[in-house]
Amino acid sequence: MVFLNIWVCNIGSGILGYAYLPGTITENRDGVVITSGAFGSEDYDDDIINNFYFTTTVYDKGRTLTHEVGHWLNLLHIWGTYERCNSDDLVTDTPESGHYYSACPIYPQYSCQTSNMFMNYMDYVYDDCMFMFTNGQKLRTRALFEPGGYRDEFVTTTSTSTSSTSTSTSTSTSTSTSTSTTTSTTTSTSSSTTVPPTPCCQTLNNDINCVTYLNKNDCTLGRRKKTCQWLC
Ligand SMILES: [Zn+2]
Repeated sequence: MVFLNIWVCNIGSGILGYAYLPGTITENRDGVVITSGAFGSEDYDDDIINNFYFTTTVYDKGRTLTHEVGHWLNLLHIWGTYERCNSDDLVTDTPESGHYYSACPIYPQYSCQTSNMFMNYMDYVYDDCMFMFTNGQKLRTRALFEPGGYRDEFVTTTSTSTSSTSTSTSTSTSTSTSTSTTTSTTTSTSSSTTVPPTPCCQTLNNDINCVTYLNKNDCTLGRRKKTCQWLC
């Protein structure tokens, strides 16, 4: 699979976005889903009249996409699978954390007898307050692109296919300016003839309802970002 699919639509239920970890979903669903109100960054909004971006106040830097692509790249939440100590994110240089953080905490914050890295992209704080991945997280993501890694096909594509990436991205950006509640963004590093079908929002919502979450607490409505791990 040599696509990073980004679906933008009104997900609803207070969910800002979700993604599947590598190898846990069929190819035509492999990607990230972002609700339109948390897509894009106001920092790059130079079209005041048309209000190019629809971002909400605290999720206005595009970090929902950063977070969800982190999942797409095999990263877990900073606290691991479960919100408790001794649940690990499988990255050695991220301190143990017993729970997620929201809003914009004052540094430092402690749990599990460590100073927690709540400013990591894989926590739930506001966009303004998250700003880092660790080297360990970087290494975990890069392993996907090594020979035999789940996404190693990305590395073996030709330079010709790479040019189609910018084309696709440009097209999708225009699409997101429309008032349609369902838009699809497909970034391709190979031939555009293999673009997967576009799931509609209703399908996506059904997707959410159908998913068995690794952490059941993540299903609580109003939480920020979800990781869909397995299909039921
Ligand atoms: Zn998440």
